[in-house]
Amino acid sequence: MESSIPFQIYVHIPFCVRKCNYCDFLSFPAAEEVQRQYFDCLKQEILGFEETEGKEVVSVFFGGGTPSLPDPSLITQTLDLIRSRFHLAPDAEITLECNPGTLSSEDASGGNREAGPDSCDKLIRYRAAGINRLSMGLQSADNSLLRTLGRIHSFEQFEREYRKARQAGFDNISIDLMYGLPGQTIESWNETLDRVLALENSPEHISAYSLIIEEGTPFYERYHEDAQLKSLGEKPLFLPSEEEEGQMLHDLKEKLFSAGMHRYEISNYALDGFESRHNSGYWLRRQYAGFGLGASSQIGSLRYKNTDDLSRYLAADFSKREMFVLSRDNEIEETMFLGLRMTRGVDLEAFEKKFRVSALTVYADVIARMRENGLLALEDGRLFLTERGTDISNLVMSEFLLD
Ligand code: SF4
Repeated sequence: MESSIPFQIYVHIPFCVRKCNYCDFLSFPAAEEVQRQYFDCLKQEILGFEETEGKEVVSVFFGGGTPSLPDPSLITQTLDLIRSRFHLAPDAEITLECNPGTLSSEDASGGNREAGPDSCDKLIRYRAAGINRLSMGLQSADNSLLRTLGRIHSFEQFEREYRKARQAGFDNISIDLMYGLPGQTIESWNETLDRVLALENSPEHISAYSLIIEEGTPFYERYHEDAQLKSLGEKPLFLPSEEEEGQMLHDLKEKLFSAGMHRYEISNYALDGFESRHNSGYWLRRQYAGFGLGASSQIGSLRYKNTDDLSRYLAADFSKREMFVLSRDNEIEETMFLGLRMTRGVDLEAFEKKFRVSALTVYADVIARMRENGLLALEDGRLFLTERGTDISNLVMSEFLLD
């Protein structure tokens, strides 16, 4: 009997209370009625997915947007449907992204949300439905920075919800943090790290991203000139300088390492055994189905996307867009880019088994040059970025494009 292929599922929930000032994700506020219609369409889309045979789902990820905003029964019913349609591994990782400002009925949801289930109830319902990992978007412990970012919660609110999540039985919690923020000092960043690590039952996983000023966001209007100054090595007015940001990254690593975490990917840190299986699946190029607005899928060598037009999606238009069949060269390139994001790097034996040629042959010159410059290292059959290589990872990875 053929063994089943490890597979993963992403479900996009595009709704947010309001748009954060830096955000260019596919997310927006919407009335409760629209949210319900959306979940009806999600259901139809999942029911219409036919290629379930021979796949074992090892992770499910509800991302957004803010999956903790809609009525929790909409999430739990969607998960039940996924369970009924797919074969879920008994130990599948099931993650829900949540915004600490959307868990309680009295939360900062514009002040006019109808009284819903309170956060403990919401969290208990998620846990009872089988969600076993929470990814909480905190970003900063500094309330004035949270306001600058346009976040809807305070640090104290986050602390309360974090405690309740533990009480509800979540023993795998990730926290998202951001650095390089306008007005952020090295001291304030260190205080954020200290406060997060001082939480009772501190988190198992932390994702820490440096701010990118994205076009089309309010931050772009305010700070893109500043970001240009910074990239030219000049002193920006609002954003931390390159050196300050470097110090923030240094402090991040030092504090998380002392707390027993390891860096397993450029922006991700975890206690042993708590690395995100879902995200690791992307870096290992596992196959996945994405359901919901704008979600991408990769089935075999075929990659495609859903519409990102809400009215089309609500009209049950689930046609495949931007369809693309990856060539062997595309797959080789991706194996290198994505594999090198992980600190353990690219498994050279697995590479050779898949492509019937050694990565050391395909990329002989690049690898030799990068090793000589101290950007790549080779150990125990794995090729990985050195610390210096990680600092300029985009540059290193661009060398792995094939002609
Ligand atoms: S909560 Fe997240 S997805 Fe929603 S607007 Fe803010 S950053 Fe974007």
